Amino acid sequence: MKTVQDYLKSGAIDIAPLLSLVLEKSGTELISNNHYQLSLGEKSRLESFILKRQKGMPFAYLSGNRGFYHLDFKVTPDTLIPRPETELLIDIALELPYSNQDLKVLDLGTGSGIIAITLADKNPHWQVSATDYSAQALEVAKSNATTQIEFLQGGWFEPVADQTFDLIISNPPYIEENDSYLDDLSFEPISALTAGKDGLDDIRIIINQAPNHLENNGFLLLEHGHDQQARIVELLTENFTHIQTFKDYNSKDRAVLAQVKN
Ligand code: GLN
Repeated sequence: MKTVQDYLKSGAIDIAPLLSLVLEKSGTELISNNHYQLSLGEKSRLESFILKRQKGMPFAYLSGNRGFYHLDFKVTPDTLIPRPETELLIDIALELPYSNQDLKVLDLGTGSGIIAITLADKNPHWQVSATDYSAQALEVAKSNATTQIEFLQGGWFEPVADQTFDLIISNPPYIEENDSYLDDLSFEPISALTAGKDGLDDIRIIINQAPNHLENNGFLLLEHGHDQQARIVELLTENFTHIQTFKDYNSKDRAVLAQVKN
């Protein structure tokens, strides 16, 4: 029979959080119960998790959830795992001028829904729509919603062809398709990560089409890769003004905000 302590000493990756997950106990509860002997069921569940984690499956796909901003989100392998740097987009959006008004907001490629749901939860007077190409991701997003949000399936602006918004926001795929960094992300949906040779294919589509879907003085807010900011500013100059650039909390270039030219 194996005890909590035996496992804690094993040195397996994320063993403490995995024990917490299987035994439904906090870290401190584990320590104070470290002679507890796992039942056969607990042991087999834990050991299958240890194996999956060793093979590189992210912890969030084992626990099935991940915190983002002030909420907890269900995540599945159909959705990207929320990244802390995306919280920057929320901070920027919540600080926008007129944010106390009834803004019409669109989140493109919503995935698990983190951006749309967090903004709507913070600002229930906003009318928020969210699109995604993946029907499976939208099911996850719907289950995460805390307020009324319009979820629509289709590529980029396709499901909102005749609509306009005050704010369009997106964390689109932006990794270069041959980037070796992708080897570390092999459990996440590739369609949510890569966008052509330079990683900008989807950002170019969004920047080109956004002016048709923005109200006068409407805002476009995008997350992007750490080395893409200058090229994105260049893409924005034709149809946008008041372009602002932002660094994430690791001091990496991470977001742009721009206002459509009238
Ligand atoms: N920021 C994520 C990462 O670097 C990628 C998400 C994305 O492509 N939008 O892992």
